[in-house]
Amino acid sequence: MLLRHTPAEIQERSALTINPAKTCQPIGAMYAALGIHRCFPHSHGSQGCCAYHRSMLTRHYKEPIMAGTSSFTEGASVFGGMANLTQAVDAIFHLYEPDVIAVHTTCLSETIGDDIPQIVSSARDAGKIPEGRHVIHANTPSYVGSHVTGFAAMTKAMVDYFAEPGREKGSGVNIIPGYVEPADMAEIQRLARALGVEAVVFPDTSGVLDAPQTGRHEFYPRGGVTLEALRSTGARRATLALGSTASSPAARALEAKCGVPALQLDLPIGLLATDQFVDALRRTAGVAVPEAVSVERGQLLDLITDMEQYLHGRSVAVAGDPDQVVALTGFLVSLGMRPAHVVTGTPGKEVERRVRELAAGAPGPVNVKAGGDLFLFHQWIKQEPVDLIIGNTYCKYIARDEDIPLVRHGFPVLDRIGHVAFPTVGYRGAMRLLEKILDALLDRQDRDAPEESFELVM
Ligand code: SF4
Repeated sequence: MLLRHTPAEIQERSALTINPAKTCQPIGAMYAALGIHRCFPHSHGSQGCCAYHRSMLTRHYKEPIMAGTSSFTEGASVFGGMANLTQAVDAIFHLYEPDVIAVHTTCLSETIGDDIPQIVSSARDAGKIPEGRHVIHANTPSYVGSHVTGFAAMTKAMVDYFAEPGREKGSGVNIIPGYVEPADMAEIQRLARALGVEAVVFPDTSGVLDAPQTGRHEFYPRGGVTLEALRSTGARRATLALGSTASSPAARALEAKCGVPALQLDLPIGLLATDQFVDALRRTAGVAVPEAVSVERGQLLDLITDMEQYLHGRSVAVAGDPDQVVALTGFLVSLGMRPAHVVTGTPGKEVERRVRELAAGAPGPVNVKAGGDLFLFHQWIKQEPVDLIIGNTYCKYIARDEDIPLVRHGFPVLDRIGHVAFPTVGYRGAMRLLEKILDALLDRQDRDAPEESFELVM
C-alpha cells in the first residue's frame, strides 16, 4: 500500500537512493564482534547510532544485543572522542570484564578523524586495559559500503589483531562463513565435523545469538570463536572464504600475514555451491566424503527432482546482500527457475559479473544492479512482473503492492520468527529453502484456483 506511488518508468538517478537495499557498516561490525567469545562490541560515536544498530540486530535476532557507545556530545564532536573512548574502555573492563572490546567507528567519529589505534595505545599506556585483555578496531564509516562491508572489516580485524604465523601448517582449515545466520554458521561447522575436518570458523555467532533459554542470564553465552582459536588461524592449511564481499578481506589478510592460502567460494546455498564447499573441505584437509553427507546430498537431489515440475520456468526477483544474491542466483538457475531481477545495495561490479555469469544458463535475461535500491527493484518488477520475490522484510511492501508471493531471506527479517534457528546453507539448508519456495508458489496457486480446479493433490 505504501509504495503505490512507485512509477514504472525508470529515470537515471546517480545521487539519490530510495528505500536502500542495505544498512550501515557498524551493524555488520557489531554482528561480527558478537561472534568472538567474551567480546563486548563498542560503537565509537553518538548514542543514536548505537541505539539504532542494537535495535536492528535485536529485532532480527530476537535477542538482547549488548554494546557500548562513546556517547558523543557537542564537545566530542568538536574536539574528538579520545576522552570518551578512554573512559569507556576503562568502564567496560571494570563493569563487564570482557576478554575483548571490539571498537567500530561511526560516520561522525570518522569525519572527525579519530585515530583509534593511537587512542587505544594511550589507554594501554595509562593502564586502562588489564593484562591479557584486548581492544581491537575496525573503521566503519557509513557513507561508504554497507553492513556487509562492516562485517568484513571487523572480521579482517580479527586476523590483524590475533592471527599468529605458525612454523608449520597444521591439518585443520579456517572457514570464514560470511554474513549468515547463527544456524548457518552451526551448519557449516556440522558439515566440517561430518567430514572429520578440524575447522576454526570465524566469526561464529552460533551459541551467542541463538543461545538456549536456560532460565539463567549469561552475559557472555558459551558460543563464539575463542581467542586461542583465532591465534591458531595463522597455522592452518587453508582458509575457505565463503562469499567474496563478506569474507575475502580477512582471508586475503591472513594469506598476507601468515601465508595461509585463501580459497574463495560462493556461500554454500543450494546443491552445486554446497558441493563446491564440501569438495574444497575434502581437498584441503585430505579427507573422504562420508556416507552420511552423501545421503544428505542424495536426499536434496531427490527433493529437487520431485519439485522441478513446479519450479521450472518460474521467474524470481531477488534482493539482498551481495554474497546472498550471488548464491541464490546460482541455486535458482540450477532449479530451472529464472532470476529476472537481482538487486543488492552493496556496491561492487564483481557481484554483477558473477550474477550475469551464473544467470547465463537461465531461460531469459537478468536485470542486475549492485549498489541499487528497492525503488529500482520495484520498478523492474512493475515493468516485468515475476512469480516470486526473495528478499528481506522490506520487500513485503513491494510483494503486497504487486500481489506477488514473498520468501523472506537475508537481513533483516523483522516480522517473522525462526530464521535464526534454521539454516539455509548446506544440503539440509537447501531443502528448507526449497520447501519455502515451493510452499509460497503452491499457496498462491491454491489461493487463485477457481473451484473446479482447486486440487487436493498437486
Ligand atoms: S550516522 Fe552513520 S553510523 Fe550512525 S546510524 Fe547513521 S549511517 Fe549509521
